[in-house]
Amino acid sequence: IRVLGIETSCDETAASVVLREDNGQGTILSNVVLSQIADHAAFGGVVPEIAARAHVEALDDIVAAALEEANLTLTDIDAVAATAGPGLVGGLIVGLMTAKALAAAANKPLLPVNHLEGHALTARLTNGVAFPYLLLLVSGGHTQLVLVKGVGHYERWGTTIDDALGEAFDKTAKLIGLPFPGGPNVEIAARDGDETRFAFPRPLKGEKRLDFSFSGLKTAVRQAATAIAPLSPQDRADISASFQRAIVDTLDDRVSRALTRFRETFPDAAEPALVVAGGVAANQAVRGGLTNLCARHGFRFVAPPVKLCGDNAAMIAWAGAERLALGLPHEDPMRFAPRSRWPLDAQSAPVVGSGR
Ligand code: ATP
Ligand code: MG
Ligand code: FE
Repeated sequence: IRVLGIETSCDETAASVVLREDNGQGTILSNVVLSQIADHAAFGGVVPEIAARAHVEALDDIVAAALEEANLTLTDIDAVAATAGPGLVGGLIVGLMTAKALAAAANKPLLPVNHLEGHALTARLTNGVAFPYLLLLVSGGHTQLVLVKGVGHYERWGTTIDDALGEAFDKTAKLIGLPFPGGPNVEIAARDGDETRFAFPRPLKGEKRLDFSFSGLKTAVRQAATAIAPLSPQDRADISASFQRAIVDTLDDRVSRALTRFRETFPDAAEPALVVAGGVAANQAVRGGLTNLCARHGFRFVAPPVKLCGDNAAMIAWAGAERLALGLPHEDPMRFAPRSRWPLDAQSAPVVGSGR
């Protein structure tokens, strides 16, 4: 089956066509992503109203480009998938309503997709990972450890009690005067930095529960930056490197516990896998730390290509294709309303209407 996917939940306008074969194998036929970074840079963050307007202006062309790149027309497509939440509601409206119009015009099924399910299932498209697996979702709005038992079957084992990891990167960048978007710029600055210069905390380290906390780390960064202001480029590099080291150590501690729990839950799993997803999964230090951790625990470590870690529509098309293949579409998709909040573990029940 071929699915056209649309993603507009934040500041990327994206469309993609993905093929899913009956044996479960996936192929990306096209993947067009237009980033709005330039539109928001002057404001130091994503401005919802500007984002929604930019989606309106770009989406038709992006969809046309995705179809053209795949050498297909709407008639060749089996379904239209779009992110229906969670995210900025203005953007969600643009994407979902466009998908409804396309689906109605072409008489194809509409698949409203949870953005987090898109992140969660990407590794099946790119690496063919089998269920069950442990997911570490680290993005701009979420930081979660999730047991992925199947399409639509998610069990949240841990979550952040304050900031998301991507948010911590972005706020740190802002605090030390690195440009938007913060995450990638902290990673670049950290390359020339001394990771031992600042002793930042490792929040919740050693605690039994599988949750995360990053706000204390942010406060420590603020205090360190204030104490040595004005910051030189070397100071910025040292803070970035020390911050990133604290993140890698913290993830090692938190995820290590989850791997142990996964082993206890599935003692017979031949090759247990940890999958990382979300924008922060693009970070090479994070990937390196998780690679070591998995090697120690005898887990297979799966990280999608960097291009598919950040927001894209291939993951949305794929999640739609996986649902369609299993006969799991929502009951009355044309009446599905965008949801600014939509937890992943509320996935299994197909819900209709506008409830959050
Ligand atoms: P969510 O998926 O939770 O709804 P989102 O869609 O905004 O949020 P993503 O696009 O998946 O999030 O990820 C964006 C986040 O990833 C931003 O916080 C960004 O700073 C962070 N990020 C991107 N690249 C890197 C990197 N190389 N290092 C660290 N963080 C990064
Ligand atoms: Mg983005
Ligand atoms: Fe995302």
